[in-house]
Amino acid sequence: MIIVPEKEIAGLMTREAAFDAVEAVFAAMSKGSAYNFPVIREAIGHADALYGFKSGFDRESLALGLKSGGFWPGNDAKGLTNHQSTIFLFDADTGQCRALVGGNLLTALRTAAASSVSIKHLARADAKVLGMIGAGHQSTFQMRAALEQRDFEKVIGWNYHPDMLSRLSDLADELGIPFEAVDLERMGQEADVIISITSAFAPSLMDAHISHGTHIACMGTDTKGKQEVETALLGRAKVFTDEIAQSVSIGEAQHAIAAGLLTADQITEIGSVINGDSPGRTSADDITLFDGTGVGLQDLAVASTVVDLAVAQGVAIEIEF
Ligand code: NAD
Repeated sequence: MIIVPEKEIAGLMTREAAFDAVEAVFAAMSKGSAYNFPVIREAIGHADALYGFKSGFDRESLALGLKSGGFWPGNDAKGLTNHQSTIFLFDADTGQCRALVGGNLLTALRTAAASSVSIKHLARADAKVLGMIGAGHQSTFQMRAALEQRDFEKVIGWNYHPDMLSRLSDLADELGIPFEAVDLERMGQEADVIISITSAFAPSLMDAHISHGTHIACMGTDTKGKQEVETALLGRAKVFTDEIAQSVSIGEAQHAIAAGLLTADQITEIGSVINGDSPGRTSADDITLFDGTGVGLQDLAVASTVVDLAVAQGVAIEIEF
């Protein structure tokens, strides 16, 4: 059995490799050759923790396994990341445990890769302004990955807690791209692509904010009750997702479905756009919205890649199990 500790991930995994792994698994999901098992997520009644599993199987790559972990709100005070995850991979031919992989950085990379995949396939080719809503832990991963998808000339940002926006402006300085903090009216008018990655339970981005042609990647809503954008926007936009079952139950679409503004059969899996089975954006005026809910197969895909890289680079720890 192979162990790839969390501390080794940064030196092994690249954004490009995460992008390729996630794009391939979205395509496999849409073909029906990869599927996610039902998600388990429970408040365990200890340390205020939410704990659970995301799991699945990809018959193409033979990635089989699960990501186990959750959210421990008291971790910050202990100098630890609140979100904790570990990925387990199993041999699809024998069921033996094949690998144990640190999942914290991989979660951020695979989540950023998902919105990047959506930008590649759905945003206008001439997109110049990237809008960021959210300035938490995930936001810099999202911004770095998105900037690689188009010739962006500027980043604009809005956050519910404005003092946190320095996180985005510092990254923009590092990358040599102009950054401006804006209100949501300007965000909607100026951004060609908007990524929303917050833990909000009420919408910030409203339908009236958005002009035509925008691509919006809603990445924060991954739980029942969370919401980042007004339901009317999903009624007006062409809606895409990683997995329809999650989109309608725990994703951004849950609210538009409940309000009767959207039906599950109006949502397109991004994999079918990748495979060329669905058209995606058909006009420069289309508003496209990607509901990125985060599926277990993304975790298995990036973990499989990192195991291969660790073995190739001699940093995998091998143990008898
Ligand atoms: P974080 O705690 O570091 O940051 C939270 C962000 O949400 C900050 O920008 C904060 O200002 C903002 N926020 C808090 N309350 C808000 C409110 N009431 N209205 C608007 N904004 C508010 O969190 P993070 O690690 O950056 O994660 C952000 C979100 O992304 C979380 O909800 C997390 O569950 C989700 N997430 C999704 C995926 C996925 O695959 N879709 C993966 C990882 C994380």
